[in-house]
Amino acid sequence: MSSERFASGPKPPANEVDSLLERVAEIQASCEHDYENTGGIVLQESAVKGVYKVGWLGHVIEFTLTCVKCSEEKKVRANEMCPICVEPLEPNEPALSAKQYDRYWGRGLTSEAREVKCPECGLRLVYEC
Ligand SMILES: [Zn+2]
Ligand SMILES: [Zn+2]
Repeated sequence: MSSERFASGPKPPANEVDSLLERVAEIQASCEHDYENTGGIVLQESAVKGVYKVGWLGHVIEFTLTCVKCSEEKKVRANEMCPICVEPLEPNEPALSAKQYDRYWGRGLTSEAREVKCPECGLRLVYEC
């Protein structure tokens, strides 16, 4: 005779919700995702016209992508993905020295900064590392 005690009863049989959730997981796993930005990101222009700030002291803002085909959602960092085209961003060349980034913030930076650019739409974003 076992003296073990269980805090819950036996697993109930699968119901309709369980099977629907399973079906959703299957659809999402085999989907060729087509993401759109649904995250409502607000871009703040830096002191340099046409360049927008997305990160302060190592904290980069995020936005939500939703797949139009399967509703899967994921969060992405705004220094990695263009919030307009949803394309990967590239480092803007040539890289500037830390000092040269001061003008983007209109003050001296205590840490380094980087600039990235969207190869599709040309959006320029800057963030403090
Ligand atoms: Zn999908
Ligand atoms: Zn873009």
